[in-house]
Amino acid sequence: MTSYLASYDVESIRCLEGVRSIAGQHRRYGVPATFFIVGELLEDAQWAQEFQSIVEGPLFEVQNHTYSHLRLQFGLSVDTAFLQLFAEELSRTNALISDRLGRTVTGFRSPMGFPDGLRGEERLLKVLWDHGIRFVCTQAVGKHHTVPAPFASPYYYDEEDILHPILEIPAHGWHDNVLKGYNYCPVLWPPLTDWGYPASAPVTPEEEFSVYKLWIDHAVAEDLLHIAPIFHPWSVHRFNAEAETIGLILDYLVQQQIPICTYSQLYHQFLQAVPV
Ligand SMILES: [Zn+2]
Repeated sequence: MTSYLASYDVESIRCLEGVRSIAGQHRRYGVPATFFIVGELLEDAQWAQEFQSIVEGPLFEVQNHTYSHLRLQFGLSVDTAFLQLFAEELSRTNALISDRLGRTVTGFRSPMGFPDGLRGEERLLKVLWDHGIRFVCTQAVGKHHTVPAPFASPYYYDEEDILHPILEIPAHGWHDNVLKGYNYCPVLWPPLTDWGYPASAPVTPEEEFSVYKLWIDHAVAEDLLHIAPIFHPWSVHRFNAEAETIGLILDYLVQQQIPICTYSQLYHQFLQAVPV
């Protein structure tokens, strides 16, 4: 059965209203979500307190999105200085999430996304493991760093030289900020799906929902383990202050009896089915 992974990347001090309306939609339907947060936002104690008041309780989890929205380096660009910086970003964010929100971090989403995730990046994976990370979402774009990101199943990094494999949980489809034309990202041509692309950027929640529905329906028809689009609270809020697109998606999922889960929940489900 296909699970829908609801996740939101919290990257800006100005996105609190977006987080509030998204969390409101999730509470309305009683369904969970994962927030991947940039650690430096939590340095502001008052902001952190407001964020905490919105996401408190068991419905939501908060995971690591680096401290400063650090862009990862790969291959030969990974030197000792970068590894040290990466480790500091992870540990400061973990500490802030623990101190300000009382939560333990086990997951990481990289800023941007990469077509092959962290394949072959033993040193980055070791740093992640050493900082308590057990699952990551780093494969979030397609060929040549394009969107939409293709469907892909979770997989362990078990060919890399690390003692305990980390699970990659790829993201799929459009990034909401790109679909709506707020941020630029190359788009793959020709389209990798039968249904192609919308003729223009959506302007109503119904139009935006109709794009996501195609991806959800395909994942369910193919009985994929999960479907995971990427949303940003600032972009959700800019489009519609009440996050109505999120409401339409959740309403559809609930009606269709498609389970909605956090990244941690999917990780544990996968770990049970495919133990390391
Ligand atoms: Zn980000």
